[in-house]
Amino acid sequence: MPTARWMCLNGDIVDYADCKVHAFSGAVKYGAGVFEGIRAYWNADDKELHVFRLREHAERLRFGMRVLRFDPVYPVDFLEDCVLKTLRANELRENTHIRMIAFLSGDDELPATSPVGLVVGCVPRPSAQSVAKGIRCRIGSIQRIADNALPPRVKATANYINNRAAELEARRDGYDGVLMLTAQGKMSEGAGACFFMVRDGALITPDVTSDILESITRETVMRLARDVFNLPVVERQIDRTEVYAADEAFWCGSGQEIVPIIEIDRLAVGDGAVGPITQRIQQAYFDLVRGQRAEWPEWRRPVWNV
Ligand code: PMP
Repeated sequence: MPTARWMCLNGDIVDYADCKVHAFSGAVKYGAGVFEGIRAYWNADDKELHVFRLREHAERLRFGMRVLRFDPVYPVDFLEDCVLKTLRANELRENTHIRMIAFLSGDDELPATSPVGLVVGCVPRPSAQSVAKGIRCRIGSIQRIADNALPPRVKATANYINNRAAELEARRDGYDGVLMLTAQGKMSEGAGACFFMVRDGALITPDVTSDILESITRETVMRLARDVFNLPVVERQIDRTEVYAADEAFWCGSGQEIVPIIEIDRLAVGDGAVGPITQRIQQAYFDLVRGQRAEWPEWRRPVWNV
């Protein structure tokens, strides 16, 4: 089963088998949902499971609910409680991935704004091998959805038809993943992660008007780079061919974590190995999320010792 046994539906813990919506709900008919992917990290020294940046994920879900005109928009405390109670119900003491979805649960027509369902599920999940090995990507031929159509800043389930098509194209062609371009032909992001490249010691990432999700991990990486490593960080548009000139590249996301990109369109990035700045950021990120670095304690929400 890809999800642990106990889930949370509208605030109640339910068995995986009973966690159901109607097949004619707005979520199914129109893709009317917003979601979050979150990770929690086990620290064996303090015997604690830390949910990373739970508050920011709950706030982003609320932003999405507001933009999609969901009524009500659930309070942040309720959203956080549902996540914590799901982790506790499953007695999780290992690295875990959590998914939370707010969706239209009624059988109504297009303009419906309620009723709103909320589901949380989680599953133990170690880091992927790609975190160490890196990945080979292509730049997809399918353009990224635009802010004035399906805003990528809102983590809507329906958006992911775009990501899925781009990802499938890349996989069919033998790549590990895809990087998408905006309608203007500028670098946007991966199917589930934000793009960074290193040039001359500076980190460069597409700005928030490049049709990206305003990623929590992207923000974390920028804080680490600026505040811990004193590296210059630039948010700006990136041309397609500029990525071929990068010394290093990686993508980042809560679920993906930090994955080196070692090849783009069959051209090696730098010398084709995982770069030193990427490695330093990876190490600092993993130390931070587990609580093995002291910075930003407010980003780690304890599950057990509360
Ligand atoms: N972009 C897209 C399209 C994503 O799906 C994700 C995963 N949520 C990200 C970026 C990374 O966002 P975050 O760091 O907030 O998980």
